[in-house]
Amino acid sequence: MKLTVLGSGTAIPVPDRFPAGYHLATGDTSVLVDCGPGTLRRLAQTGHGIRDLDAVLLTHYHTDHCADLAALFFALRSPTFAGRPPLDLYGAPGLERLVARLRDAWPWLEPRGYELRLHELPPGEREIHDLRVTAVPIRHTAQSLGYRIATATGTAAFSGDADECEELVELARGTDIFVCDCAAPDGAKMDGHLTPGLAADYAERAGARTLVLTHFYPECDGHDLRAMAARRYHGEIVLATDLLCLDVGQAATGDPAPGR
Ligand SMILES: [Zn+2]
Ligand SMILES: [Zn+2]
Repeated sequence: MKLTVLGSGTAIPVPDRFPAGYHLATGDTSVLVDCGPGTLRRLAQTGHGIRDLDAVLLTHYHTDHCADLAALFFALRSPTFAGRPPLDLYGAPGLERLVARLRDAWPWLEPRGYELRLHELPPGEREIHDLRVTAVPIRHTAQSLGYRIATATGTAAFSGDADECEELVELARGTDIFVCDCAAPDGAKMDGHLTPGLAADYAERAGARTLVLTHFYPECDGHDLRAMAARRYHGEIVLATDLLCLDVGQAATGDPAPGR
């Protein structure tokens, strides 16, 4: 399984980091975790596209994690994609209301030429194509989920935006890669978010092999986030950049994705 960071940034526009989006690809399956503004363009830069996108999993409904849904629905109506397989969209309760309201605002987001299937997820495990996905409630908004995604050969976990909560340990337990909120440096924690030291604590307790810090607000600039995390975590630490590509389940050595 390959993991590509499509957006390592936040709601604050900066030149080199798009808001949250991640792409997971196995031989058979192509999935987005979050779909913040710009995610679809970054996905195109990886050489993948929306034609063979199987599913989108949303961690929560802040716009830096889902605003490209509207762009996705509109693009998929193009005759270019007619007859493509159904698209499955997963998220916490509230998903159907969100999609209904998007269609109220923009009637031309109604699916045409493809089937859109909405799934409001309770906590727990389910199969999505060849992935075993576990949704775990996370402290951020009232309806935030983290995702643990496993194949036969590797496991990745995504905190989404997260404040301190014990569920993060369960989410990341024994994973090859734990992608974790790191909104601000140690000493400058924001409500609803983590710092490198806190993310490192959870990764250490969970026994995650590689910690990928992400979702960097501009407040992180100029701080040695890696050193802050390394004081409390003994595995490999990766600072996410847009288009960073990692193998899940093998040595997680970053390569720029093709097309960068
Ligand atoms: Zn966010
Ligand atoms: Zn958020």
